[in-house]
Order: sequence, then structure tokens, then C-alpha cells
Amino acid sequence: MERRRPFSFAKSLMFSFRLLAADAHTAARRGVFTTPRGDVQTPAFMPVGTQGTVKGLTMDMVRATGAEMILGNTYHLALRPGAEVVQKLGGLHRFSGWDGPILTDSGGFQLFSLAQMTRISEEGAVFRSHIDGSIFELSPERAIEIQEQLGSDVAMVLDHVVALPNEDAIVRDACERTVRWAARCRAAARRPEQAQFAIVQGGLNPELRAWCAAQLAELQFPGYAIGGLSVGELPEDMYRVLDGACPHLPQNAPRYLMGVGRPEDILEAIRRGVDLFDCVMPTRNGRNALAFTDRGPVRMRNLKHATDDRPLEEQCPCPACGRSRGYLRHLFMAGEMLGPTLLSAHNLTYYQRLVTGARDAIANGRFDEYHREKQHGWESGDA
Ligand SMILES: [Zn+2]
Repeated sequence: MERRRPFSFAKSLMFSFRLLAADAHTAARRGVFTTPRGDVQTPAFMPVGTQGTVKGLTMDMVRATGAEMILGNTYHLALRPGAEVVQKLGGLHRFSGWDGPILTDSGGFQLFSLAQMTRISEEGAVFRSHIDGSIFELSPERAIEIQEQLGSDVAMVLDHVVALPNEDAIVRDACERTVRWAARCRAAARRPEQAQFAIVQGGLNPELRAWCAAQLAELQFPGYAIGGLSVGELPEDMYRVLDGACPHLPQNAPRYLMGVGRPEDILEAIRRGVDLFDCVMPTRNGRNALAFTDRGPVRMRNLKHATDDRPLEEQCPCPACGRSRGYLRHLFMAGEMLGPTLLSAHNLTYYQRLVTGARDAIANGRFDEYHREKQHGWESGDA
């Protein structure tokens, strides 16, 4: 195999993370992540653009929600249309029409959740595509090569995700392999304009998470993710994992909690020092007629909205909130495609307002108060 010459991320001036404020009472941080395609104010929420599209929205609409960075899925794009096709069409930014920063995941989570007959060895994974059953191989080196072809700004290392809860020995083995694979990904990098984030694994064991975080921190990545969560574990278990991992991650690098989650999980994670989030919840729930609000979730198909002239939320600037609840309900009842589009736009705007509020609260030293206000509103359930 041809050896590529690795370069030092630490010496790369294209990416940086600057802490602007730290909350006095919690571990919450306010920062800015600088990339070649622009700054990302943190804590930040990244809408999920699985197939090179944030489902149901144009990129202009995604931008209008307040999003600064989006996510693309390596597994999906590599299977269809193929990384070479995306590369031929100018890379993921030109292909999708999103000119801001893009983070691509490595496919580790989809190997675990979607692919069929996945076989993992030290070399990598062999699996069958969930689309047409064809056989694919994904090694740490190949995962980076694909993400370089896609041209994302941040690439994720390939990690070994296992089901939870699981036997200690299995979780530990996958965690140790994840560290070895992270080192291989780092050595395979050849594009200075693409940063790599490592992924902390270790199941629900806070000590193993702490060990994994410390091992990866020694490799000096420009950012770190906490992965393998949001797979059905209790919220308290997830918070314990964050308590285990976050203190062992470098202060001067962004921390990204992958695939999480509900608005309450996001604030609990910010509280513990997490900076970046992604989740399909706002768009998936939007498509299914569920809206997030400060007074709890609203089920848009409910008969009680039929003649309701009020907007979903008075203070929300999104296009859905320019119309009445009665109109939004009508769109869903009539099976109109504008319904899912408008509610996806509202939910993404809601998540952006949530993290914007958190950023302001941290800067003003009142994150704890902000967190309690939000929690109180959600629990009221009178939306
Ligand atoms: Zn709205």
C-alpha cells in the first residue's frame, strides 16, 4: 500500500477554536470554530443533510433557519451516487448548494445501524449495502479517502460502534479498536483544508469513556466527538458518559455530541461542556407533523388546531409561524408537501433559537437560569 505523508493538524492555521466565555456555574462554553468556509458560533446545531439535502428544504431555507454548518453522511453518499460522482460534480458544497462548512460522518454509525451482515476485523469493515445488497469495504484509510473526495471541511474518523448495553469485553474491544483506527485515519489525511475529528467510544462506562478521551487527546486532533449514544440508552446514562468524557478532552478543541437529540438533551450536554450537535429529530418530526415549541411539542394533526388562528409560536421568525395553526393542520390533513417543509423549517429554526439563546446566556453568565426557564416551559406542556 502506498504510504502517504501525514501532516500536522496542530500546525494547520485553517482551523481554530476560540473560547469566548465560560459559564461560572456549569461547564458550558461559548466559542467560535473557524473553518476555511467560515466561522461557526458555538454551541451550534448542525442540520442533517444525509443525502446531500436537508430533507424538504432548499439550502436557502436551511441558511434562513440560522444554521452555519451542516452534516452529510459518508455511508449514504458513498453508496449513492458514489463519492467519485460527487467529486466529478465539484464536491459536496457545489453538488448540494451549501457554501458554508460541512461535516461528514465516517459511516461507523451506519455500519452498525443500517448495513447488512457487517463483519468487522482489525483491517476494517466488510458489509452489504442496504440499497442493493452489493458488497463494500470500509477501512479507516478508505473512510478518509471517501471524505476527501466528498470535500467536506470536517471529516470524522472511522469508529467501531456496538449495541448498548453490551458485555464489558465487547465494549472495551471496540473502544480500543476505535483508538487504533483514529491513529490510522490521522496518518491517512492528506488535505490540509480538511480537519479530522476523533470519536470517543466506550459504551455506558464513564471510566472507559474517560480512558478513550485521554488516549485520543494525546493524538492531538482539531476536534473530538462523543459517539455511540442515542441508541436507546436512558438520558441519565448519556449524561454520565458526558461527565466521564468531557473533562478529559482538551479545552481548546470543539466537542461534538453525535446524533443527539431532544432539546432537553442538548441543554444538558451544553451544561457539561459540549459545543456541537446534530440530530434528525427536527426534520424527521417536522415531516411527521410534530412541532417543537417553548411550551412543549405540538401535534399538528390534532383536531383542536382546526380553527386556531394563532401561529405556532408568536416570536418565531420562520415561514410556518407566518401562518395559522389551522392552516398548518390543513396542509397535513390534505397531504400537501408544504406541510412537512414548513414544519421542518420551524423545527430547525427552533433548534437554532435554542442554541442561540444558550450562547447569549453563557456570555451573560446566566446559563443555569436559561436552562431552568426552558425546562419549566417544556414541562408545562400547554402548547
Ligand atoms: Zn416557527
